[in-house]
Amino acid sequence: MFGRAPKKSNNTKYYEVLGVPKSASQDDLKKAYRKAAIKNHPDKGGDPEKFKELAQAYEVLSDPEKREIYDQYGEDALKEGMGGGGGHDPFDIFSSFFGGSPFGGGSSRGRRQRRGEDVIHPLKVSLEDLYNGTSKKLSLSRNVICRKCKGKGSKSGASMKCSGCQGIGMKVTIRQFGPGMIQQMQHPCNECKGTGETINEKDRCLQCKGEKVVQEKKVLEVVVEKGMQNGQKITFPGEADEAPDTVTGDIVFILQQKDHPKFKRKGDDIFYEHTLSLTEALCGFQFVLTHLDNRQLLIKSNPGEVVKPDQFKAIDDEGMPMYQRPFMRGKLYIHFTVDFPDSLTPDQCKALEAVLPPRQALQMTEMELDECEETILNNVNIEEEMRRKQAQSQEAYDEDDDVHGGARVQCAQQ
Ligand SMILES: [Zn+2]
Ligand SMILES: [Zn+2]
Repeated sequence: MFGRAPKKSNNTKYYEVLGVPKSASQDDLKKAYRKAAIKNHPDKGGDPEKFKELAQAYEVLSDPEKREIYDQYGEDALKEGMGGGGGHDPFDIFSSFFGGSPFGGGSSRGRRQRRGEDVIHPLKVSLEDLYNGTSKKLSLSRNVICRKCKGKGSKSGASMKCSGCQGIGMKVTIRQFGPGMIQQMQHPCNECKGTGETINEKDRCLQCKGEKVVQEKKVLEVVVEKGMQNGQKITFPGEADEAPDTVTGDIVFILQQKDHPKFKRKGDDIFYEHTLSLTEALCGFQFVLTHLDNRQLLIKSNPGEVVKPDQFKAIDDEGMPMYQRPFMRGKLYIHFTVDFPDSLTPDQCKALEAVLPPRQALQMTEMELDECEETILNNVNIEEEMRRKQAQSQEAYDEDDDVHGGARVQCAQQ
């Protein structure tokens, strides 16, 4: 469960925060948390950091499973185990402990501060964009808090307690999931969307019609930096839909690289396919490659060098720029295919034989050769042939399976 072997780290801090010994019972923990949390609640002028620490300590120690992990390996192990998320809202823990609003409902803090959803947009980019870097202006519409009523939804600023949830904004359902096992679940009230309030129809704000939010167009400039990867996220924190009593979520763009007709990217490297004629492969070649920034690269073989089919060559520092280190670059790999002629005339053969290495001589006499059997070499498309054969054998197996179906299935199931 934990990425690394957990090292021994501080495993007494949570006990110290709550002021209890390591042997404290669940009851001791509860009492200690209750006393300290009320004393340190930010609504009563307490220190928010201390309040958070208390909630974190109590959240861990009140859960036997988490407490065991903490006792053994300390805080770091829990953080890894919880996926780095690092705990819950301390106000949630506080209100779940006291069951609803702790100070008689007058506190704005007692109400749950929800986090708004992140809005995720895919953003198509070309390989050129990722190579050169670019910026794209995008116009998005989103909900913002109504300025006229400051998110109250009413002209007078007044609101009435929601009758569905008695103004708490949350409803509690009880779920039984085993003999004697009961789980209490809190969820936002559907009648007031978790706000705890309803607004008199006549008092509704004219700007937002009581919705508390209005739609607004906003232009975001997404900066695509050199070397960014396919799937990389560009985040605009707090730019998603606003809602009252909600921490606004983020707008997240996820880069989606479009296929490039000539280049393929692998990490910081670029791959390019090039076909040579047989003459070029044997006697040398040169060609011009237009790079992603439109520079023209002259690519040529060394004198006397022969390039073989399927061979790779690489040009250093002509690959992708590295993200946030754009002065460093990967490699540009060139994969060579050699286009052989389909046939040659006898004269061409003679000319070639005069310059190419001699044929392999057969270690046989004329007479011995005469006794060998003649054969015919057919052309085949080997991939297609193998595919067909595989399909055939699968069919035969399936038929076989039908005939001896029962026995075979039994075997397979053991
Ligand atoms: Zn309600
Ligand atoms: Zn309004």
